[in-house]
Amino acid sequence: TAVENPTTPAHPAAEAAARHLWMHFARSGAYGPDNPVPVITKGEGVRLTDSRGRTILDGLAGLFVVQAGHGRRELAEVAAKQAAELAYFPVWGYTTPPAAALAERLAHLAPGDLNRVFFTSGGGEAVESAWKVAKQYFKLVGKPLKHKVISRSVAYHGTPHGAMAITGLPMMKKDFEPLAPGGFRVPNTNRYRHPEFADDAEGQAAFGRWAADRIEEAILFEGADTVAAVVLEPVQNSGGCLTPPPGYFARVREICDRHDVLLVSDEVICAFGRHGHTFACAKLGYVPDLITCAKGMTSGYGPLGALIASDRVMEPFLRPGVTFPHGYTWGGHPVSAAVALANLDLMKREGLHQRVLDHEQAFGDTLRRLLDLPIVGDVRGDGYFWAVELVKDKDSRETFGADERERLVRGFLPRALLDAGLYCRPDDRGDVVIQLAPPLIAGQAEFDEIEMILRHVLVQAEQVV
Ligand code: PLP
Repeated sequence: TAVENPTTPAHPAAEAAARHLWMHFARSGAYGPDNPVPVITKGEGVRLTDSRGRTILDGLAGLFVVQAGHGRRELAEVAAKQAAELAYFPVWGYTTPPAAALAERLAHLAPGDLNRVFFTSGGGEAVESAWKVAKQYFKLVGKPLKHKVISRSVAYHGTPHGAMAITGLPMMKKDFEPLAPGGFRVPNTNRYRHPEFADDAEGQAAFGRWAADRIEEAILFEGADTVAAVVLEPVQNSGGCLTPPPGYFARVREICDRHDVLLVSDEVICAFGRHGHTFACAKLGYVPDLITCAKGMTSGYGPLGALIASDRVMEPFLRPGVTFPHGYTWGGHPVSAAVALANLDLMKREGLHQRVLDHEQAFGDTLRRLLDLPIVGDVRGDGYFWAVELVKDKDSRETFGADERERLVRGFLPRALLDAGLYCRPDDRGDVVIQLAPPLIAGQAEFDEIEMILRHVLVQAEQVV
């Protein structure tokens, strides 16, 4: 666990950040001398070092990003080499060798006929681009009314206005209304919050049918001639690793086909080994029309996102005179693309996908030991992507009130976890979950350490609420 030297003076970055850095999703006014901004100064493998000299286990791979682990010299060297060779040129009617090579590689790795790659700077831009592709696609094929998007409640799909309209988190949206019109929500697949479906195979299959049918219901309610796309994560992050019930995606695929609606697999978190496959849709046995991805593609050694489209979606965009009038200065950045290629090579060489498949069960089993604590209601996940749900009453599954969630999620937990040597994400979406997604190089020793620190902190948390 972490070792702290209390005499270490605050790092100048903490003060500069408190004054000048507009931190993302943070309460800017909360930081100052009494509550310094944590400064992370170094990363090596699964470990981070902070400015006070503490060593912290990275239980979230930065932000579901650092698949290969921190401090990989070979990736840093590829970035430096590409920057020296050609640091920047756009893909606006041109290409660079790394951008073209990465597009080709992703097309080979993607399932089915998803053969065309549109690069973005990150995940939200990929989701935004997916919606624009879907809208223009249906105009080009003579169904111009199709423009709406259906997604799931509590799901997070990014912060641009369009991606925000697809996001299912009212608290995150209310200050920015009006958003792009046309985003509609259906229920997610939170099994823990649907105890009316039995936990056996039959009950879960019934839950899968029920949840998928809510999508068809929404399409029919809105009018199939107005719905362009359904945007779903293979495993929904927000709300805490909501895995799909058996049969869910097969039925969603049928529904999308029946109503000529594009299925978008938002794999911004789930792709690049998080579930032991390049794309999680392959693990779950469905082929979408579009994939959005980002984060793990470069393991964080450069920013990059992508939208991957099927031949069917691409066909009208190849017609004479047709342009997709959309793009980003940083899309397909040569340094990021070169790093992504090296990262995919590294993950293959080190067998990181297989490592996840070999260890996912053990990771879950280790975390499930926490179920003996009164505050732990559920442990769920897949691959190296797990959530621990905290509850006020285990029998009734009652969650905490707003004040308790404030004390727990914004007050006690983040600091206490960091002080105990674990970086991970306590999250409040009405329900309280702790999200865990370590670098894919982690193993049983790290699972044990995560469990031990969580146990230590959660026993204290029971006194806080
Ligand atoms: N989609 C999903 C599923 C995400 O988890 C995220 C970010 O966490 C995004 C989209 C947005 O990605 P970015 O922050 O790179 O814009």
